[in-house]
Amino acid sequence: MVGLSIGQDISIQYGGSARVLGILGSGGQGTVYRVGFHGKTMALKWYDLSKISSPEGFRRNIENNIDDGSPDKRFVWPQFLTEVNADGEFGYLMELMPDNYVQLTDVISSFRQVSDPLTGMVGSRPVLFSGLYANLTAAVNIVSAMRALHRVGKSYQDLNDGGFFIDTETGDVLVCDCDNIAPEGSNFGISGKQGYMAPEIVRGMAVPDVQTDKYSLAVLLFRMLFRADPLEGARVLGAGTLTETARRMAYGNNGVFIFDPNDTSNRPVAGIQDHVVSLWEFFPQYVRDAFIRSFTLGMGDPSKRLIESEWEQLFIRLRAEILSCICGAETFCVNDLTAACTCRCPACGREYAVLEYNKSKIKAPMYCGYKIHVCELDPLYTLTETVLGEVVENRLDRSMPGIKNCTPLGWRAVLPDGKVYNVRQGKGIPVWSGLRVEIGNVRARVMQPDARK
Ligand SMILES: [Zn+2]
Repeated sequence: MVGLSIGQDISIQYGGSARVLGILGSGGQGTVYRVGFHGKTMALKWYDLSKISSPEGFRRNIENNIDDGSPDKRFVWPQFLTEVNADGEFGYLMELMPDNYVQLTDVISSFRQVSDPLTGMVGSRPVLFSGLYANLTAAVNIVSAMRALHRVGKSYQDLNDGGFFIDTETGDVLVCDCDNIAPEGSNFGISGKQGYMAPEIVRGMAVPDVQTDKYSLAVLLFRMLFRADPLEGARVLGAGTLTETARRMAYGNNGVFIFDPNDTSNRPVAGIQDHVVSLWEFFPQYVRDAFIRSFTLGMGDPSKRLIESEWEQLFIRLRAEILSCICGAETFCVNDLTAACTCRCPACGREYAVLEYNKSKIKAPMYCGYKIHVCELDPLYTLTETVLGEVVENRLDRSMPGIKNCTPLGWRAVLPDGKVYNVRQGKGIPVWSGLRVEIGNVRARVMQPDARK
C-alpha cells in the first residue's frame, strides 16, 4: 500500500502545497489524509496506482469533473488535483466531512466503532435516526442528489452505503467518493460493490452507467429502510458461504427478491430475519410496490427501474404521511383519495386533522411539528428542503393547534363561512375544520375528524 508521511508536503496543481496532518481512512482505491492547504484543513485522497486500471484517463476524468463543478451542493466534489509525483502517483483535495455526519454503513448496522483517544480501546456507539422524519428526509436527499447528477449526464458508478454520510438528527446528506463519477458512456475500471451491482454487471454484460446506478440506488434505499439485502433470503443464507459461481447466480443470473409476490423461494428466514418482515409490514403498500417493481421487473429490464423523480415523489409523500403522535408513537397515516380524511393514532386512538393539498393530492396529518414543505404543495417544485409552514401548539388551547406561516409570502386563510384573513410571516391561524389556506396558486384544505359528524 502506497502511503504518505505525516508532515510531507504535496504539490497542488496550479500552485501551492498541502501538508499531510493525519490519516482519515483507507478505501479500495487509496487512502484519505487530513491536510492543511492555504490555512484550511481539507481531505486529500491519495491513490494506490495498482488499484487504478488506467491512471491517465482516471486523472483526466477527475480534472474534467473539477472544471464542470458539482451538480448539487450535497456532493463532496473534488476541488483541486495534486501534481503527479516521480512515481506517477497523485490525489485530489476535497472538503472535510463535518463531525456530525456518520457513514450510511453505520446507520444501516445501527452502530459505529469508536476508539477512545486516551486508551485506544475500541467500543461501539449506537447510530440511530432521530425519527422517521430524519430517516425519510435522508431518503429524499439521496434520491435528489442522484437526480441532479443524472440530469447533467453523469453516473456515480460505485453507488453503495460507504459513499453517503448522514446527519441522523436532520436527515441531511453528503455524498463523497465522487472520483468514479463519469459522463454517460465512460468507465474507468470500477464495477461496484458486491450486493449493489446491477445483475447485468455481475453477469459481465455491462459496465456501470445511469441504468445500473438506478439499480444500486434501489438497493441502497432498501437497505436503509429495511436493514437487509434485498436478495439475501432463505435461498442465499441456506447456501452458506457463496462461491464465486453461486454469488453470480444469486446476484446476477437468477436473483430472487426476498418479498417477490410470485416466488416465495427466497423469503426472509424466520427467527433470523424477523425484523425485516416487521419493517416490510410497517411501510405502506405503495412503498412495497416500488421495491417489488425494482427487484422483479427491474432486475432483468433496466427500463423498468424507478427513475429518481419517482423515488423523490414517493418519499416526499411518505414523509408527509408520518404521524408523530404526542403519545410518542410514530406511524404512517395513509389516506387514499376516496377514503374519509381522518387520521387516528394506532397506539392511543387520538384523532388528528388532515391537510389535503389540491395539486399533489397529498394528505398530511397535522401533528404539532409537522412541516409544510414546498415540494408537498406542488410536485413541480424540486426544492425538497424549503419549509413554508409548520403546525404549532396553541398555548391557550392545546386541543386546537395552529398553522404558522414561515415564509415572507402572505397566505390567504378562507374560513368555511367565507371570511378571509391574511396570514403574514411568523403569524398563525387555528386549525379549524374546513379552513382553506391559499399559498400562491396552491390550496390546502383542513379536514377535521369532527367535520364528518
Ligand atoms: Zn398516540
